[in-house]
Amino acid sequence: MPSAYAHLRFGWEVLSAIPTPYRAAAKNLTQLYNVGTQGPDPLFYYNPLVENAVDKQGQRCHAMTGKAFFEAALVRYRLDSHCHPLINAATEEADLDHMELETEFDRFLLQKDGKLPPHLQDYYKSLRMTRGERATAAALYEDLSPRAFGWCVRNLANVHHVATSRNRRFAKRLLGLGGRRGRAFLMTVGPNHMYAHLDEPIFEAYSAALADFPALAAQLADALKDGVPLGPEFDPTFG
Ligand SMILES: [Zn+2]
Repeated sequence: MPSAYAHLRFGWEVLSAIPTPYRAAAKNLTQLYNVGTQGPDPLFYYNPLVENAVDKQGQRCHAMTGKAFFEAALVRYRLDSHCHPLINAATEEADLDHMELETEFDRFLLQKDGKLPPHLQDYYKSLRMTRGERATAAALYEDLSPRAFGWCVRNLANVHHVATSRNRRFAKRLLGLGGRRGRAFLMTVGPNHMYAHLDEPIFEAYSAALADFPALAAQLADALKDGVPLGPEFDPTFG
């Protein structure tokens, strides 16, 4: 879940593969699209340092209707269904942490994109919404007010703001309140030696997700437009 940058980046890369008319919505509603690329992850940030009930709802979210948000959520869905099997296998094998690994992968992508130094980048600025956008997004979840969703998105941006702060001691102390879960947001300066060997394999999974995105996006567009049932590729839940 800390992989906010990976999801944003993937979303920007597949924008042109989104079928019309949804592409226009995604391009015009940039903020809604950007936050949508995070899927239900913002709910995790209701209280980012401890598990909570709203966080859990992220795993049950359904009945999505907002077009830009819906196609954007496909970004999070496809990327994670390609990368998570690998991430889960790697972290189950050793004393590795899912979130720490995803933070390292974000660092790797930022470096690849020439955004240097990765640990001080302000990609979190892409994660904000107007009041109307918050209402649109919140309506896609059960029992979630626009206010609560806005709180989650602000926290999402704030956590990444703190994590990429120049004041590393302050960031470490604040995020450390959440123990390992909190500290996982903090990128290392340079590759994280515990996880960096997994960057390339995860990037391969990322590239595979890019390759099959257009077919999936077309399928989702047909489902939204004409109610064509979704194929088995959509069976896995967000996770
Ligand atoms: Zn993950």
